[in-house]
Amino acid sequence: MMNKTLCLNSALPTKDSNAPNFSQKVAALSQQAIHTCYQCGNCSAGCPAAFAYDLQVNQIMRAVQLNQEDLALSAKSLWLCLGCATCSLRCPNAIDVARVMETLRHLARQQNKITVPVVEKFWLSFLNCLRAFGRSYEIGTMVLYMLRSLRLTTDLDLAPQALAKAKLGLLPHTHAGRAAVGRIFTRFAESEAQSKRDKEASSCN
Ligand code: SF4
Ligand code: SF4
Repeated sequence: MMNKTLCLNSALPTKDSNAPNFSQKVAALSQQAIHTCYQCGNCSAGCPAAFAYDLQVNQIMRAVQLNQEDLALSAKSLWLCLGCATCSLRCPNAIDVARVMETLRHLARQQNKITVPVVEKFWLSFLNCLRAFGRSYEIGTMVLYMLRSLRLTTDLDLAPQALAKAKLGLLPHTHAGRAAVGRIFTRFAESEAQSKRDKEASSCN
C-alpha cells in the first residue's frame, strides 16, 4: 500500500534548463529505459522485501519517471533491497529494475540520504574485509558491524550453530587474487578523487 504521495505537478518540465532531469540522469547512469515502465506492478509482486518497504519498487520507478528525486532518494526501500534481481527478471519491458535500485542507492549516498544507516554500516564492514582479505570474511564483517552500529549482541545467538556447522571460519581465507582485489579498491578511490577534483575545477570556472 502506498503511504507517500506522488505529486504529478513536480513532473512538469522546467522551461529554461537544458540539464538532464532526474529521470534522464537515472536512465543514463543505470543504462535502463525507465520511460518504458508502464506500472504493471510485476516487479513489486515478486519482490521478497516488499513487506518491509515504505515505497514499493514500482512506485519508486514511477517517482523516477516523475522526477520526484527527493521522494525516490529518501525511500528506505533502497536500503532494504536485497539485490536479488527478481524484479529485473519479472519486468515485461526488460528493465533491469535491480540496477535502477542500485543506481538510486549510489545517488542517495552521494547526497547523504542514508535512510537506514545500519545497512550502510554493514556494507562498509563487508567492504573493509573484502579489501583486506580479497574475499568475504564473515566473522570480521560481524565484528566491524557490531562496533560501527553499537549492536554488540546482534545475532550472537546464531554463532554457536553456525560455528558447529562450519559456516563461519575463525580465520580469513587466503587466496591468490587478494592483491588484485585490493587494486580494484585503489582504482576506485583514485577515480573518486579525480571526479571530486574535476567537480571542484568546474565549479571554479
Ligand atoms: S532486487 Fe530489490 S527491489 Fe528487486 S526484487 Fe530483489 S529485493 Fe525487491
Ligand atoms: S515490472 Fe517493469 S514495467 Fe512493470 S512496474 Fe515494474 S519496472 Fe514497470
